[in-house]
Amino acid sequence: MRLAGKTILVTAAGQGIGRASAIALATEGARVIATDRDAGLLRGLEGMETAALDVTDAGAIAATAGRVGRLDGLFNCAGMVAQGSLLDLTDEDWDRSVALNVTAMMRLTRAVLPGMLDRAAETGTASILNMASMASSVKGFVNRTAYGATKAAVIGLTKAIAADFVGRGIRCNALCPGTVDTPSLRGRIAAAADPAQAERDFIARQPMGRLATVGDITPMVVYLLSDESRFVSGQAMLVDGGVTI
Ligand code: NAD
Repeated sequence: MRLAGKTILVTAAGQGIGRASAIALATEGARVIATDRDAGLLRGLEGMETAALDVTDAGAIAATAGRVGRLDGLFNCAGMVAQGSLLDLTDEDWDRSVALNVTAMMRLTRAVLPGMLDRAAETGTASILNMASMASSVKGFVNRTAYGATKAAVIGLTKAIAADFVGRGIRCNALCPGTVDTPSLRGRIAAAADPAQAERDFIARQPMGRLATVGDITPMVVYLLSDESRFVSGQAMLVDGGVTI
């Protein structure tokens, strides 16, 4: 059991990468606190503590941080895609993207960090994993202005946290997946003018010739939240099917 004895909180654990990660972390022996804005989606997560948490709600973050106490791990997975180039971008989409993809991550991490520092003082280590994307400072993609900008901010936030707390046992890394087959990706495909072409386009951007499954991503999540990655901090880890070769 690679995560025995660790308590790890996961946001957006209701579906997609967050849900698969919560299951993978629990399978490796972690005590997982699985949270999502939509508590109904957390049904069926066996052997975990589940709780509703809208990470854009500052009051809910404070309450959750008070309740969970000292964490060994935090996976900030919640995020959203606003489609469009700069010419299509509304202030509302920009503000929603910043609020969910960046501000919420900063607030939740800030709220649980004192407890993680206490825990790291005891055990020597605690790990924060922030969900970024290959669409960020790593690479530009069409129609991803707000998404790319906010996921780039995630990488900057990650590096800043890593730099400030590296001497106190805290590691902080970002995860940069390629295109992953999840409910929200299926929604973006279905909403396209030509869904079959949209799916072909999403597949074509991976040189490996397919979409990632959530199971392609979870091994990196487990690694970065386990002590196996004890000498790794401040990194943006790509799992992208060769996009950035
Ligand atoms: P998804 O988009 O299918 O599901 C998102 C989950 O987040 C849902 O369960 C939803 O209820 C929850 N959620 C939405 N708003 C929330 C909020 N305010 N507070 C708490 N929970 C909230 O999942 P996904 O596609 O696996 O995406 C998860 C993360 O991975 C996102 O940050 C996304 O940007 C990132 N990502 C996804 C892909 C991909 O191709 N799917 C690629 C790179 C990065």
